[in-house]
Amino acid sequence: MVLKSQVLLCREKMRMTGSRHRVVIVGGGFGGINVTRALTGADADVTVVDRTNHHLFQPLLYQVAAGILPEGLIAPALRNVIRKQANARTLLASVEDLDVPGRIVSAVAPDGRPLALPYDTLVVASGAADAYFGHEEWAEFAPGLKTLEDARHLRSHILSAFEMAELAATPAEQAQYLTFVVIGAGPTGVELVGQLAELAHQVLPRDYRSAVPAEAKILLVEAGPAVLSAFHPKLQRYTQRRLEEMGVDVRLNTAAIAMSHDSITVRGPEREEQIPARTKIWAAGVQASPLAGILAEVTGAGTDRAGRIAVLPDCSLPGHPEIFAVGDMISLNQLPGVAQPAIQQGKYVGKLIRARLRDTAAAKPFRYRDKGNMATIGHLSAVTDSSGLRFTGVIGYTMWGFVHVLYLIDWGNRIATMYTWARALTFTKNRAHRVITFEQARYELGQHSGEGKIPGGL
Ligand SMILES: Cc1cc2nc3c(=O)[nH]c(=O)nc-3n(C[C@H](O)[C@H](O)[C@H](O)COP(=O)(O)OP(=O)(O)OC[C@H]3O[C@@H](n4cnc5c(N)ncnc54)[C@H](O)[C@@H]3O)c2cc1C
Repeated sequence: MVLKSQVLLCREKMRMTGSRHRVVIVGGGFGGINVTRALTGADADVTVVDRTNHHLFQPLLYQVAAGILPEGLIAPALRNVIRKQANARTLLASVEDLDVPGRIVSAVAPDGRPLALPYDTLVVASGAADAYFGHEEWAEFAPGLKTLEDARHLRSHILSAFEMAELAATPAEQAQYLTFVVIGAGPTGVELVGQLAELAHQVLPRDYRSAVPAEAKILLVEAGPAVLSAFHPKLQRYTQRRLEEMGVDVRLNTAAIAMSHDSITVRGPEREEQIPARTKIWAAGVQASPLAGILAEVTGAGTDRAGRIAVLPDCSLPGHPEIFAVGDMISLNQLPGVAQPAIQQGKYVGKLIRARLRDTAAAKPFRYRDKGNMATIGHLSAVTDSSGLRFTGVIGYTMWGFVHVLYLIDWGNRIATMYTWARALTFTKNRAHRVITFEQARYELGQHSGEGKIPGGL
């Protein structure tokens, strides 16, 4: 009863705040922020609702996990990002449900208070989550990398493993702590093993006395026949060769079949093997955010195997021209779940909403401009492929660095990122963000041991 009256009160307050067209955007990632920006100056009140208070630049998340970049550089506060946009505001809340006939977004504030956000136009851009292909229990043993919290935990977990290796009582225990297995050889998996190899083989050896980080085993396990399956075979071969030169054990045609807190079992072309390893990282699959399923249910739209919702060519939902979905959570023209489709769809939908507000002619269907693929492997080595122009090594790395810095938000973050890279990767060859505490290490070791969570984590 109390909850219901709070919802009604909130709904009323929201209604009273403005009589202009109300656009609610769920998610302030690549898709959502580009819709928001495209609506700058439009005759509409724009509300961005996100579970986090920041716009996360996921492509550099692995560098936070590896202790290279501080998190603030890749996650500027949404509030600050839209500060100059007078018609937009942002709310920290989790969207839980959608009332399509009533045109209300139901969300929950961090203190549990329900919020009802009325809309005239709704854009859902809530991204994707890790998919464990029916083995949800593996999430406990092999966490993924999607959010800033994931990156912080991963960093703490990796550093805790090296600390425990220093304290280990037997060589077998030490080896268990110094074995790192990444499952999935897409760009995220490749970037992660590259960083683990640099950390273990180049950065940490001089800092340890008992443990020998250089002896760390770093495995990349991939069920398919090649690393970076979406890239040209020439770039796949280069990547595999470079990783092997960096000391990574690349296992192709090999699938994870079982896991526990201290081991992983893999099935390769010739045999099954149980590998003792305290650190397993999941980079093998994604599925659409649960909001895609809710949207599909309430609108009758279809979903694909990854749970992505099928949208019309203008990114709206069938029978609901007032609802759009963009980015990783949609399936449209078989576009990949990477940043460019989300960015371009966001801009497109923002422009389309503006055109509708001005009552101008119907927009053309969304057309994707393919800007190519890129992935970094390690220091001074990356692969890029754009319109058939393929680069590897230092040239690829320079192009990768340039594009990633360019897409960061805010000049301050761009300059600070370049400075941090120069310091960490070129001059000191150190990783400055290696801070953990006893409590964090206990939490990480307890978290993936099945012994229950130990309070005092991040
Ligand atoms: C580790 C990693 C590395 C990557 N590297 C690259 C790369 O090198 N190149 C590339 O092109 N792409 C890369 N990608 C993919 C790229 O980041 C995504 O394709 C892109 O972020 C998709 O944009 P989006 O707006 O759909 O979702 P996101 O950017 O994920 O944004 C979704 C937003 O919705 C919010 N949200 C979710 N659920 C709710 C809810 N219920 N209520 C409120 N808010 C919610 C989230 O907090 C988030 O802010 C990478 C992804 C990851 C995870």
